[in-house]
Parts: sequence; C-alpha cells; structure tokens
Amino acid sequence: GGMFAARSTSEWQQLDAAHHLHPFSDMGSLNKQGSRVITRADGVFLWDSEGNKIIDGMAGLWCVNVGYGRKDLADAAYKQICELPFYNTFFKTTHPPVIELSKLLAEVTPAGFEHFFYCNSGSEGNDTVLRVVHQYWAVMGKPAKKHIVSRKNGYHGSTIAGGSLGGMGYMHEQMPLQVPGIVHIDQPYWYGDAGEMSPAEFGLKCARQLEEKILELGADNVAAFIGEPFQGAGGVIFPPESYWPEIQRICRKYDVLLCADEVIGGFGRTGEWFAHQHFGFEPDTMTLAKGLTSGYVPMGAVAIHKRIAEPLIAGGDFNHGLTYSGHPVAAAVAVANIRALRDEGIIDRVRTETGPYFQKALREGLAASPLVGAIDGTGLVAGIQLTEDKASRKRFANGYEIGLKCRDHCFGNNLIMRATGDRMLLSPPLVISRPEIDLLVEKAVKCIGLTA
Ligand code: PLP
Repeated sequence: GGMFAARSTSEWQQLDAAHHLHPFSDMGSLNKQGSRVITRADGVFLWDSEGNKIIDGMAGLWCVNVGYGRKDLADAAYKQICELPFYNTFFKTTHPPVIELSKLLAEVTPAGFEHFFYCNSGSEGNDTVLRVVHQYWAVMGKPAKKHIVSRKNGYHGSTIAGGSLGGMGYMHEQMPLQVPGIVHIDQPYWYGDAGEMSPAEFGLKCARQLEEKILELGADNVAAFIGEPFQGAGGVIFPPESYWPEIQRICRKYDVLLCADEVIGGFGRTGEWFAHQHFGFEPDTMTLAKGLTSGYVPMGAVAIHKRIAEPLIAGGDFNHGLTYSGHPVAAAVAVANIRALRDEGIIDRVRTETGPYFQKALREGLAASPLVGAIDGTGLVAGIQLTEDKASRKRFANGYEIGLKCRDHCFGNNLIMRATGDRMLLSPPLVISRPEIDLLVEKAVKCIGLTA
C-alpha cells in the first residue's frame, strides 16, 4: 500500500490537469495529452501508474545520485523529524544536523572550502552567490566591482537572479525584469560553433571573451565570473580542455572571483567529487544542490573558499537568510547521503569502473549511428550530438523536433533520456550497475536508431 489510495491513471491525469501547474510546461497541450504518473521507484528504476518499469537515465532531474529507495536516508529524515523537525539558525542558535553536515562538507570538498551557507535549491544558491560576491567586494573596499560575467545557454536556476545569471533567451524574454550588471559571453560549444578551429584553439577563443569583457567594463567594475564546469541543462556541453585553465588565469589576473555552479556536476557526476576537479581549476565559490541530498529532500548550499570567507566573516553583518537555511531534516538527509557516497565508494566506482564502462559502451553502441555526430561526457554523464551529416558536423535545421522525436521513442521504450535541442542527455543514478548500464545503453541506441 502506498501513501495515497490508488486511482485510475485517467482520474489522476484529470485531477492533475484540473489543479496542478507544471514547471517549464505548456499546460494547454500537456493537459490534452495527460502527464505520465510516476508512482514509485527503486534503485535506477521508476514505475508508472500503468505498471511500466522505466529505467531512469536522468536520475530524476540530475539529482538522485545514490539511487531510489535508500532506507538509511529515509530513517535519517524520520528520526530527525521526531527529534527536532525544525529550528532556525538566525538568532544565535544552531543544531547538531547542520553542524555535522558542515563538518562533513569541509571533509569532502577540496582544501580551503571550510564554510557553507545553506538554502533550499540551486537557484537560491546562486542568489546567495551574488550576495556573497557583492558583500565580499564591499568588505574589500572595492564596491564598484559589481558586474557578473556569465554565459549564453548556461543554466543557473529560475529565481530572478538565477534566470538573470542563466543565458536562456526564452527565460529572459518572458521575464523582462533582470538583475542589473549581469553580462553574457559565448558558451564553449565546439561542435556547434567552432567552424574550422581545433578544440584547443576554440577553447582559448571562448575564454578570451571573458578577458575582452573585463577590459570593456574595466576590471575595477567586474566582481565575478560564474559558470557550470560543464553545461548541463544547456546540453551536457563539455568545454575543450584549454578553456578552464584560461578562464582561471584571466580571473586571477584581473582580480575577478571564479564561481563554479556545481549543482549538476557536484557529488560525483564526473567521477570526481566536484566537476571542477575533473577540469582542473580552483573556484572561489561552489553552488551545491541536487546531489547534496540526492534529491530526497530539497537543499542547496554555497561553499565559500576561506580566502573569501575570512574577509566576509571579519566584515560584519551578512544580511541574507531563509527560514529553512540549514533545515535540520534536510541536513540529516544530506549527512546520510554524503556518508553513503563516501563510505560505500560510490563516487570512486564512477571514476574507476562504472563511468569508463558507461562511456565506452555508449560510444561503441552509437559508433555506427549516422545520426550521432559526437558524444561529450565522462563518468556518468553524457551529451549525444545528433547531426544531419557526421563528416561536416552539419546540424539539422529542425534539430529541436528531432530531439523531441527521439525523446518520444524513449518514452515508448521505458527509458528516460532528456532532449535539449539536437542533443540527447544521459545522467543516471551513480549506483547503476554494469548490467543496468547495458540495458540503458541498449535502449538509448535503439531509440536513437528509431529516430534516424
Ligand atoms: N544550477 C544548475 C547548474 C542547474 O542545473 C540547476 C537546475 O537544474 C540550478 C542551478 C537550479 O537549481 P534548482 O532547480 O534546485 O533551483
């Protein structure tokens, strides 16, 4: 028996259509079609209200890193709710779960990250980053440093600040109110934008747009650069290897903070604890969410390097906080989740075993597909580029429709794979086994084959 008495699928769909507004959806057409009702999950599988068993190639929304059905995370939430379901951390109070979580995060993050501020989502995390950055420069006596450089097609969430930082044109158009001072440079999307340039040359070219932008605005007016180590929602776009070291060089040269949005990349996706470690750079702040609790309960955080945190702490009042900053139940679940990732060697396995196995199987499975131009990815994340002509990297005029067509085939074959324009994305739970990877890849290859 589940939490709620079973209804027929059509009854659920009718109630959903009558009362529930979905995120990022065209409700008119969705309501005509009816949503798929997901009723339960275990490991890497979901079940819908029709009894179909579906392999979740996206770990929910890139978040269920430890997989579904972990009793230890459920126990942590239950025990914490019984003991202390809520208390705030505003007025000179704290509590054991938030203390234990902060200690644990200091252990699993790279050296220098010793301080953590909590919120409920990745979007709120990036709101917090803006406040941290501005407060830092105020404390440092450089309050004119206010501009933030971000990237086109980046995704940083859907609050006003998150949407402003992000480079999604359709979000900007619908929300004319943008946070001032945020400017966007090009994304390092070699396949689509590089023309005849080599990846290394193109990576440097994109990074140098940051330098051009800083010189245009004046280094004294630029506070920070923010980016996802690899762009997730933008299509799992991996920058050329030359990109991040050059971005870091430019940030250090002009005294611009380097903010990594690790909401997708954090907690093991690439086989490293944090994706910036894969790309070999050292950010000043890290935005965390999703894998922090494996999505079992909402939580976000900002990790602040001590070179930023120490002046901030010395600088007096930081006027920012959320009722649920450091929520005890979320913190207790996060502790159980991070212990599982660490003590069960889940992330180590992604780096040494399941990640390489997945990447190889996917590349071998799709090598002969005329529709697949390139595959980006490492660990347990991949972006599959669909193409009209492999040799010339020609993109479909209607790539968006082809992606949706492929996603429809996935739907029919009980596979969750996401489409972003002409790119198909995979990001399964990090506990996926080899036989489950075989199944995932087999279905992905089949669905892409059906699309050609
Ligand atoms: N940053 C990145 C890189 C993301 O991918 C997302 C969500 O997908 C966010 C921020 C926003 O997180 P949330 O949806 O939890 O607000």
